[in-house]
Amino acid sequence: MPAVAQVLPLVTARGMPGALDYLDESLAPVGTVVQIDLGGRSVGGIVVGRLTESQWPVEKLKPVEEVEERSTTPELVELAQWMADDVASTTARALALVAPPAGKAKQRLWVRLADGLDPTTLTTEPAGPEVASDGDSAGRKTPKLSDAQRELIASLTESGPRAAGDELGRWRTLEKRGLVVVEVADERRRPAAHAVGASAKRVPPQTAEQTAALARINQVAEQPDGGALLLHGVTGSGKTEVYLRAAQATLDRGRTVLVLVPEIGLAPQIVHRFRERFGDVVAVMHSGLSAGQRRDEWWRVRSGEATIVVGARSAVFAPLDDVGLVVVDEEHDASFKAGEDPRYDARRVAAWRARHNHALLLCGSATPRPESLAALEVVRMTQRVDGRAMPPVEVVNMRGQSTPLHPTTREALVDARKSIVLLNRRGWSNFLECRECGHAWGCPNCDVTLVLHKRRGTMDCHHCGHVERVPSFCPACSSVSIAQHGIGTERLESELTQLGLPVMRVDADVSDPGEILARFGAAERAVLVGTQLVAKGHDFPDVELGVVLDADSTLRFPDLRAEERTFQLVTQLAGRAGRGGDGHGRVIVQTTNPQHGAIVAAANHDADGFLHEELARRKQFGYPPYSTLVKILVAHHDQVTARDLAREIAAPLAAARIGEVLGPAPLFRLKGKEREQILVKSPNRAAAVKAVRAALAPIEGKASRLRAQLVVDVAPQ
Ligand code: ADP
Ligand code: ZN
Ligand code: ZN
Repeated sequence: MPAVAQVLPLVTARGMPGALDYLDESLAPVGTVVQIDLGGRSVGGIVVGRLTESQWPVEKLKPVEEVEERSTTPELVELAQWMADDVASTTARALALVAPPAGKAKQRLWVRLADGLDPTTLTTEPAGPEVASDGDSAGRKTPKLSDAQRELIASLTESGPRAAGDELGRWRTLEKRGLVVVEVADERRRPAAHAVGASAKRVPPQTAEQTAALARINQVAEQPDGGALLLHGVTGSGKTEVYLRAAQATLDRGRTVLVLVPEIGLAPQIVHRFRERFGDVVAVMHSGLSAGQRRDEWWRVRSGEATIVVGARSAVFAPLDDVGLVVVDEEHDASFKAGEDPRYDARRVAAWRARHNHALLLCGSATPRPESLAALEVVRMTQRVDGRAMPPVEVVNMRGQSTPLHPTTREALVDARKSIVLLNRRGWSNFLECRECGHAWGCPNCDVTLVLHKRRGTMDCHHCGHVERVPSFCPACSSVSIAQHGIGTERLESELTQLGLPVMRVDADVSDPGEILARFGAAERAVLVGTQLVAKGHDFPDVELGVVLDADSTLRFPDLRAEERTFQLVTQLAGRAGRGGDGHGRVIVQTTNPQHGAIVAAANHDADGFLHEELARRKQFGYPPYSTLVKILVAHHDQVTARDLAREIAAPLAAARIGEVLGPAPLFRLKGKEREQILVKSPNRAAAVKAVRAALAPIEGKASRLRAQLVVDVAPQ
C-alpha cells in the first residue's frame, strides 16, 4: 500500500489547486513542512492529510523531495482550512499563518567544567587530574594554572556554564588541558519587557465580585464542552487578576492558556503581570518581536516548554496543545481584526479554538461589543477594586470656541498632578491652506490633505506614506502666507509645554511607546498626550485627570460603529482617571455635540443603557450582529475600469438573493488608485461568502490581467 501525503503547496496566488498527493514513505504527520516538486519547481508545502491510497495510480505520484523537521499541529492545520473559507481567502495563505517559523536557533559557545572535575582541587592547590603536559620528573601531572586561569575556573563554579564570549582563547587553552569543555548550545532570544505599573507577584485576596466571577468561570471551564463568557467589568474592577487566577486553575487542570490582548508593544502591562506570576512558562508573541525572538518563542510553545501564551492578534495561532482557557482581553478593540488577507478576526478564531478544544472562551472588557453582549452569557464586575466611584465626567461644549483647549480644560490640566489627554490626530496640523488663493496641500496619490509634522519638517500623507518638504510659499500664487488649520498631538504637546507642564507624547510617531508609558508611570507629575493608544489597557493608579479633546472625531466617521467607538473611547479614558490615591478623579470631554447619545451615556457611565440602545439600533437597520457584511473593493488607476469591474461583480451578487447588495459606490482615491466598493448585507454568513466567491471567480483572471486589485473583507471593522 502506498504511503500518500496530501500536501498543500504554500503558493499564495489565487486559483491554486487544493492539496495534491505525493508519495511519502517517512509517514510525516499532518502539519509537517515538506518540499515538493510542483510543475518542475521546488516549493514548500504542508502535509494536510494522510492516505493509504490515492485516487491517482501510484506510478503517477511524485515522491516528496524533502521532509523538514519542523511541523505545526494538526489542530492548526484544520483551523487554517476552516478559516480560509470563513474569510474568503486561500488555504495556502491561511496555512502560512500557522506554519512553523523558518530559521535556526541562535547558537553560541558555552563553557562548562569538564566532567568529573573537582573544581576545589584546581582552584586551591596545584595538583589536578590527568593532564598530558607539564608532568614533573616523577611523572606526576601538575597543571600549572596562572592566577587568572584559576579565577576563570572559579567563575565557572560560581555561575555554572557561561557564554565563552571574549575570553574564548583563554577557555580554549584550558580546554586543551582537559579542564573545561567548550561546546555549542542554543541561546534563547528573549523578547524585551518593560516593567510597567502594578505588581501582581503577591496574589491579593479576592474581592467578592472576583470570587463570584471565578466561581462561574471555573464552573463553565469544567463543563465537558467548555463554553463562553463575557466578563463585563469596569476598568479597575480586577479583570486581569481574574484572568491570572483562571489561568492558574487551567494549568492546575493540566491544560494550557491563550491570552489575547490588543497591540502588546503599546500595552506591555499585562505581559508583565503574567510573567511575574507564572515566570518562564509564559511565551510572548506580537509583531514587535524580531524574527529570531518569534522563532524561539514559537518553539518554546510547540515543545510544551511554555504553557501560557500572551500575545496580540496573531498569537491566536500559537501552537499550544490542549488549550483549556482562551482569554480575549479588551475584546472590543478593533486591532483584533487583520488588515491584510487573510482578513481574519482573532476573536472569531479564538472562539473556534475554544470550541475545538472544549475550552472556556473568556472575553473581557469595560466596554464590550454589542455583538458579544447579544451572544454571550455575561459575568459582571461593577465595582473598582479600591472601592472608589467612577470619576465624574464633565462634557464641555466647544461650539463657538476658537482655541483647542476650553478654559475649563486648561485650568484643570494646570491643577492636576498627573493627567492623560487624548487627541485622535497625529502631527502638528492636519490642513495647510494658502491665505491668498485658498490652495490646499493635498497628497498626489490620495484624495486627502497632507499633515504637517513640524519637528520632522515634513508634510505626510497618513494613508500612503507620501512625504514632502514643508512649503515656504504657495505653488499657485507664490504667497508666503500659509494658514495651519487643525491641531494634532505634536502641536498639543507644544501648547501644553508652553503652559509649563511636563509633557510626554505617545503616538505612532514615537519609536518606543512602551518606554514612554513606563516613564509616565514612574513620574511624579506629568501630562501624557496621545492618540487612542493612551486610552488602552494600562493601569496608572495616580492619574487624576483624563481629557478627551474632539470627541466628535470618531463620531464624524461614516461607520456603523461610530457610536460604539466614541462611547468606548470616552469610557476607557474615564476608567484611567482617578483610580488611586485619594480619588480626586475627573474627566473632561470636549465636543460640539454634547447631547449625542454616545457621549451622554459615557458621561453617565451607563454601559448597559448604551449597549441596549445600540443593539436596538442595529436590529432596526439590520446591521451586525443581525447580519453579516461583506465588503468587496475594486481598485484601479482608471476609474472607468474600476467601475466596470465592480459592476460585473455586483450583477450576479444581486441575482444571488443572499441579502442586500449596496453599490458599486466610489470611495476616495487612495495610493493612486480609484476605488469602487460593493457591500453585501446578508443574514447568512456562509451563503454570502460563497456567493461572493462565485461572483469573483470569473472576474479574477481579467482583474489580474488589467492589474486591478480585488479585496474581499468579510465582517469588516
Ligand atoms: P482591570 O483589568 O479590570 O482594569 P486590574 O486587574 O488591572 O483591573 O486591577 C486593577 C488594580 O487592582 C491592579 O493594580 C491590581 O493589581 C489590583 N487588584 C486586582 N484585584 C485585587 C484584589 N483582589 N485586591 C487588591 N488589589 C487588586
Ligand atoms: Zn496661493
Ligand atoms: Zn497619500
